[in-house]
Order: sequence, then C-alpha cells, then structure tokens
Amino acid sequence: MNKDHYYTYLFDILPVAVAIVVDGKLVKLNPAAVQLLEVSDEQLLLGKSVDEFVHPIDQPRSQGRLKKQGSNWANANSKFRIRTSKGNFRMLLVISNAIEFEGRDAVMISGMDMTEHSEMEEQLRQSEFNFRRLFENMQDVYYRTDANGIVQKVSPAVTKILGYTPEEIEGKPAAELYPQMGDREAFRKEIMLHGMVSDFPGQMVTKDGRIIDISVNSQALYDDEGNYAGAEGICRDVTQRKLLEREMQRLATTDSLTGIANRRAFLEHAEHIFKSCQRYQTQMTLMMLDLDFFKGINDKYGHQSGDLALINFAEAVKLELRESDLFGRLGGEEFCVLLQQANQPEALLVAERIRAHVQSLLLNSAAGEPFSLTVSIGIAIYRAEDDRLGRLLERADKALYQAKSNGRNRVTWET
Ligand code: GH3
Ligand code: MG
Ligand code: MG
Repeated sequence: MNKDHYYTYLFDILPVAVAIVVDGKLVKLNPAAVQLLEVSDEQLLLGKSVDEFVHPIDQPRSQGRLKKQGSNWANANSKFRIRTSKGNFRMLLVISNAIEFEGRDAVMISGMDMTEHSEMEEQLRQSEFNFRRLFENMQDVYYRTDANGIVQKVSPAVTKILGYTPEEIEGKPAAELYPQMGDREAFRKEIMLHGMVSDFPGQMVTKDGRIIDISVNSQALYDDEGNYAGAEGICRDVTQRKLLEREMQRLATTDSLTGIANRRAFLEHAEHIFKSCQRYQTQMTLMMLDLDFFKGINDKYGHQSGDLALINFAEAVKLELRESDLFGRLGGEEFCVLLQQANQPEALLVAERIRAHVQSLLLNSAAGEPFSLTVSIGIAIYRAEDDRLGRLLERADKALYQAKSNGRNRVTWET
C-alpha cells in the first residue's frame, strides 16, 4: 500500500468524523462523518455550509475558527453542538486545522461524538448538585467516620444540633460526642455485626454541655478488600420527640388530680410485683384505702374542697411510704398501697401511721371553714395459693368493708 492509499484507507475506517471544508462549505467527508450527520450518502452533503449543522449558539465560535487565513494553524479542542440532517442533536469534541486540499486552502475538521459522555457528565453534575443541596440544607446530620471512629465528614446541620461547626468535629473521634461510652460501643457492635443500624437510639452532648436524644440510621463502609472502613449515616435530634413521649407516658400513667399513679398504671405495676412474688415466693401486702363519709364533705364544703382534701390525703400517705412502695388512685376516693417485702406487723404499722396522719390533717374548705378527714384501711397479704392479683384485691376489699362496718377510721387485717 503506498502512502496515498494508506491515508485514504485510514480516512475511510477512522471512527472519528472527518470533514474537509473550503470557504465554509463541505467538500469531503469520511464515512464516520456521513453516518454522524445521518445521511445515506456523502454526495448529499457536498457543497453544504458547515453552519447548516452547527447549533446557532455555537455558530459564531465555529465561524471564527474556520475563517482564519493562511495554511499553518490549528484550533484547540473545543465542544460543539451540531444538528444532524434528521434534526438530532449531538455533542462533538472538535479539533480543526489548516490544510491544503486539491490546491486550495482548506480546513480539516475532526469531531468525536461525546453526546453520551456529556449526558453522563451532566447526570453526574446533577446528582452531585442534588447531593450538595441535600447535604447543605437537610435538617438531620449526615456524617462519615473512618475505621477508627474518627469523623471524616459532617454536614452543616450539625451546628444547629450540637453547636459545633463541621470543622470543629471533623478529624476528632466520634466517641467524644457521646456522654456515655456504652452508647457508642453498642452502636459499634451493632454496625459491625449487621452492617447497618436503623433508628438506633442514643444520646449526644452538645458544645454547651446539654444532653440530647438522637436516632441514627447508618451503614458500614468497606474497602476494596472487604475490610471495615468506617460508617456513614444520618443522625437525627429526637429530643423533642422523646420529651413528648415521656410527657405522654406520664399523662397516661398518672392521676391528674393527685399526681400519683392512676388505676391502670398501679394495677400494671402491681401485677408485675405479684408475678415476682409467685416466682420467688417473696412477700407483699396490699392495702385498700377509702375515705370516710367523703360524700358528706363534698355536700357540706363543696366539690372543690373535696378535691383539695384528696390532694392533701395523697401527700400525707406519700410521706408514710418508702421508695419501693406503690401508691395509686383506683378511682373516686379509693386508693391502694402495695408494700414489698413487708410482713404483717410491718404492714399494720405503716397502715396505722397513715390512718393517724390523715386524721391529724387540718384542712380548710374553699370558704375557709376548717374540717378534718378520716380513712378506713383493709389489708391482705400474699398467700402461696393466690393464683392472681385479683385474689389479694378481693381480700383487701373485704377487710376494708369490715373496717367500715366496725365504725370507720380504722385498720382491719383480712380474716
Ligand atoms: P363511706 O365512708 O362509706 O366510704 O362513704 P363515702 O361518702 O365516702 O362513700 P360514697 O361511695 O357514698 O361516696 C364517695 C364520694 O366521693 C362520692 C363522690 O362525689 C366523691 N368523689 C369521688 N371522686 C371525687 C373527686 O375526684 N373529687 C371530689 N371532690 N369528690 C369525689
Ligand atoms: Mg368513702
Ligand atoms: Mg368509696
């Protein structure tokens, strides 16, 4: 193959589109260029202006590059948008240089189709942009740590939640942000074991020393060899949610008038203790307390005074109890006390102290009249044959009935 044949051959098989232009018009194109411009034959393109195919926005730039004079110049790489004969847009990476073609000054243009590459680039740019926007604006904290638990990256939301700027945290051990070492360890264990954690609870300490509740969604990162390389995830401040949950829990379990356990909470807790008595054969006693002639107090001094009496009564009882005792309002002017590990003499002593304390209360009605209060108490103690808490409650209730019929303001032991 001689040199001319060699170049012609190369021209024909090149995957790059090549066109020769004289005075801004196409005079020769290789098959790749014909294919790129979507025509069936080179002949259909000859004599056409380059401008016919260049996107209007790129035309001034294209014209500038083509009208250079002389025969010894080259234009650097540049991107051009073109329109094919079928109206499809392509993105080309173009170089052009002066040549002599059949005795005339000409320009050889070669263009590589970068359309797909450009689309990918654009998609990448878009997703990078979206990530940035999310990263900068999200309320939760994005973070990444390395295998040693050193914070690599943290999003700006961290300032609102912890008070630190990202720069103050990046490069430091994440463990420093946890008030309890155990929390961080539990997290580490979980993520090493399962490769991820979801809604994982914990606490963090802010720059000004406050402790906040957090919830973490995170996944483990691995290097090319499959070794643990750290974790990345989202950390959310759930302090408000936790406060609300605790408040709702409190509201659901306390009696709004006296602030002690309500019926449901008392019985639930008592049930729990009863089960443990059954299992370990330990002791417990149950007291039923009912205020005497309370209807009369309401009738004489008004409902508001009755409410005040209930509050004062509850306070007086609390003063006679220990930390481990349970106290609840079963309803109306009926209360219940559960003593753990107490035998008969001890329980009787506590009950008697309560009775005496209540009797000694000096109360004032809403209108300022002084009045007093008494309470009747029935007590039952756990027996090995008790198959449910209800048995104890029934016996304590019976004892209470006895106390009432024996004249009230007294403590009665079950029979
Ligand atoms: P007894 O000595 O037999 O127990 O007589 P009692 O009047 O205490 O018993 P009774 O069951 O007849 O009446 C209980 C009263 O307690 C009736 C009700 O109006 C009153 N009461 C119940 N709950 C409340 C409350 O939350 N506030 C006030 N002020 N009164 C209440
Ligand atoms: Mg009563
Ligand atoms: Mg009653």
